[in-house]
Amino acid sequence: MSSVRVRFAPSPTGYVHVGNARTALFNWLFARHHQGQFILRIEDTDVERSRAEYESQLLDDLRWLGLDWDEGPDKGGAHGPYRQSERRELYGKFARQLIETGQAYYCFCTPEQLEAERQAALEAGRQPKYSGRCRAIPLHEAERRRASGEAAAVRLKIPEGIYRWRDVVHGETSFSSEVMGDLILMRSSGQPAYNFAVVIDDYFMQISHVIRGDDHISNTPRQLALYRALGWTPPQFAHLSTILGPDRTRLSKRHGATSLENFRQMGILPEALRNYLALLGWSPADGKTEILSTEQLIAQFSLDHITKSPAVFDIKKLYAFNRHYISQINVGDFDRDAALRAWVEQHLVDVGYLERPINGKLSEWLFKKLFLILAPSVDRLDELSARASVVFNYDAQAMMERGPTRDVVEQPGARQVLQAFISKALAETELSGERFRAITKEVQKETGKKGKELFHPIRVALTGQVSGPELEKLVPLFEEGSKLPLKKHVKSCAERLREFQAAAKL
Ligand code: GLU
Repeated sequence: MSSVRVRFAPSPTGYVHVGNARTALFNWLFARHHQGQFILRIEDTDVERSRAEYESQLLDDLRWLGLDWDEGPDKGGAHGPYRQSERRELYGKFARQLIETGQAYYCFCTPEQLEAERQAALEAGRQPKYSGRCRAIPLHEAERRRASGEAAAVRLKIPEGIYRWRDVVHGETSFSSEVMGDLILMRSSGQPAYNFAVVIDDYFMQISHVIRGDDHISNTPRQLALYRALGWTPPQFAHLSTILGPDRTRLSKRHGATSLENFRQMGILPEALRNYLALLGWSPADGKTEILSTEQLIAQFSLDHITKSPAVFDIKKLYAFNRHYISQINVGDFDRDAALRAWVEQHLVDVGYLERPINGKLSEWLFKKLFLILAPSVDRLDELSARASVVFNYDAQAMMERGPTRDVVEQPGARQVLQAFISKALAETELSGERFRAITKEVQKETGKKGKELFHPIRVALTGQVSGPELEKLVPLFEEGSKLPLKKHVKSCAERLREFQAAAKL
């Protein structure tokens, strides 16, 4: 078995954003490439901000993105539990051990004292760091004070020296203990601090590589100090570059949609997001291929091709990827992909075109015809309802009142084309794509009009719009739609043309 074991360790304090999603994806790709294990660990030690709803949303978001994990809170595993709130005993045990061996001590400093120390350092032009005042309190004295009810944190005596590691992304990196104050292991509230819990967990979960955002880079020497104090070998570290917005400031909500929940609602396909996120700071060996299937990403992913420089998140580029993946959707995908089906269904229910249940012929029409005719040119699936307007909303009167459409009808020769077309089309019981083509040919012969002069008036009469998808595909879509029990009735070609005749006084 591969010795690669990596983890994604989010805190359930909000929605999953681009940065975290990219961290999760890189860990997952690395694990899958090496046939290693991908572990999901929930870092919920911040009791005030952590919420169960966020945890379940987080799991849903990761599943939606197409990631799966080998061990995690919902499925267990040999190194659990996988929620930090369920691992308190372990942290308590190691905090006590470090105190007993003299490597850690109780700290009784109040927030006010710490703040005063910090201010004094800033005023003296020094980098603030804890003075280590409580180091001098003998253990028996500290125990006595705790027994009498005084609250105490536990701090590590940071061993002096230089903490170095060879970061997989940043190369040789080092920090001196001089810049680090004694690290809090346990807060006076009894909660473990992040740096402590993470080291205990990474060690016991046998994590081989810690791949995380570079906002954690200054935590790494502190974690290394703990590994040193505990006599444990640290994992390898890879710190991923910051993600910036188009204005080159750190990506945040100010830049618009950045959470997976936003993307899902907009109708970004998970495969498009996966592909796009993979390229935020990583590139394949050839340095240029952009469209990569998940299998290709797994096969090619390597930590060697991660860049140090910040990645820029560009939503337009994500849209371009999405448009590509939407255009690849084919008939069979709707049978395979229940999530895609549910998304499209919900979207059209929300805009009032459909009501449930949607099955049988209706479902065939919706997914295998309407979607495939209208979706190929959209950036986001939520543009589908606007595109579907050509099917669901036809109003000849309104069209005759709008300049661009009225002008088409009023142009010389248009009425002649329309009269010929409408009388032939109304003679059919139902218009098929082939019959439509045959009829327009006959009209061309009879009137001598062709190209735009022929098709523009016909398009306007049938759709009420000056442009749109191919008429030959729309015509049968209208005819079939008109016979289906839709919430919003789809007008047949005959209904449209009669309404048009009346409105245009033809
Ligand atoms: N809970 C931390 C975060 O969400 C995890 C950091 C780490 O991977 O060590 O940023």
